[in-house]
Amino acid sequence: MAVNGTPLAPPALPTLPAHPDPGTDAVLDSGFLHELAHAFGGPFHFLLPERFDANLAAFRAALRDAGVDGRVYYAKKANKAAAWIERCAAAGAGVDVASLGELREALAHGVRGENLVVTGPAKHDELLRIAVLQGSLTAVDSLGELDRLVALAREAPARPARLLLRRLPPQQPHSRFGMDGPELEEALARCVRAGDAVRTEGFGFHLSGYAVQPRADLAGHLLGLCRRARALGLPADRISIGGGFAVDYAAARHWHAFLAAQRPEHYHARKAFPADGFYPYHSPVAGADALRAVLAAVPEGGRDDLGTRLRRTGTLLLLEPGRALLDRAGASVFRVQGVKDRDGYAVVTVDGTSLSLSEQWFGSEFLPDPVLVTPSGRARGPGVHPACVGGATCLEPDLLTWRKIPFPARPSPGDLLVYPNTAGYQMDSNESPFHDLPLPPKVVLDIAEGRPRWRLDRRPAR
Ligand SMILES: *Cc1c(COP(=O)(O)O)cnc(C)c1O
Repeated sequence: MAVNGTPLAPPALPTLPAHPDPGTDAVLDSGFLHELAHAFGGPFHFLLPERFDANLAAFRAALRDAGVDGRVYYAKKANKAAAWIERCAAAGAGVDVASLGELREALAHGVRGENLVVTGPAKHDELLRIAVLQGSLTAVDSLGELDRLVALAREAPARPARLLLRRLPPQQPHSRFGMDGPELEEALARCVRAGDAVRTEGFGFHLSGYAVQPRADLAGHLLGLCRRARALGLPADRISIGGGFAVDYAAARHWHAFLAAQRPEHYHARKAFPADGFYPYHSPVAGADALRAVLAAVPEGGRDDLGTRLRRTGTLLLLEPGRALLDRAGASVFRVQGVKDRDGYAVVTVDGTSLSLSEQWFGSEFLPDPVLVTPSGRARGPGVHPACVGGATCLEPDLLTWRKIPFPARPSPGDLLVYPNTAGYQMDSNESPFHDLPLPPKVVLDIAEGRPRWRLDRRPAR
């Protein structure tokens, strides 16, 4: 029972601290977040574009170290901020877009059309048409889409439609994306008939999950498809292995201890979360290291590792990481608006909603512990003040955290709760101005001459 902030014999509650991150910690300790909360008068997200640059560089280094010629396309759906696209443009990296809106954003922030890959099923004609005009690479999902692309390419002035054919993963036969073996054979015949209206550059896939070996296996299979396409006179000199490079949010020992301990009584309203429904917040192999592992794996039925086979065949490797490029590149900040006591824990209400923490909308929970930041710095100490975190809406299920977090101090109005590492699919995938609440702004932070500097992600139009 917590009475006026004095916890009495609190039960041990499971925690899941995020990996310590010096970049994020420097921001938490700078006092700057309270200034920003004051300026915006509501929740906000902060972005650390230097971290994005470092993640991109790590992927490129993995390619270089394996002697593999490759290109990284940032999968834009993972976060809507302009900052990442600006970094891609500056670094000459590509962007994976799946809608006309995403394509416009990428072009408007300086990414060249030829550095875009257009994915997604049954793409709108307008999207296909602009992809052709921009010299972008289209990942073709079906025979019907291929026919539409060829027709559009015939009308387009002087450009072949650059395309990849997307493979339905044989290991995921219920996927709604891509083409199976016979469909691909038919697609190749149609590509040959289309002549110079199209340029069949290769094959691609995107697998759900994070397993290494299935990616290497399917990449090996695509190399065989490239050989087959080249025998038909098509260029087919590249493959795309999509995204799905895990992010490692927390240490192994914390993650396993958490899974073993968590029970319904650790959550508000005794909400039950099955342990297998959580995102794998710990991954032994993650980010660019997962790419290294894929390149070092031997595709089934062969003897050489994937990297060797790519090198030997002169095949270009395309990849489309989303989440992994955003690892530790942003966090979400909410202000405590009210605190009320329940039986043995507090219900904290913050000034935003769980729409800014997308995991909450998949019958799951974003588990890395939010950090309590008081006006005098991060709360520390041996105290245990359990609290769940609700949003400022009239929806009963609008909780940012159902779990009773054992905070080291009792949260008070004016304190901040910082959810770490939210840039990948959390902060804005689901955001909507529900209740006419404004969307939290995004603040781009960098450190200049030892001091944090900020600007809005989207500069006001001039
Ligand atoms: C979502 C998606 C990605 C990115 O996946 P991550 O898990 O964020 O790396 C890449 N390619 C395609 C086709 C996608 O749909």
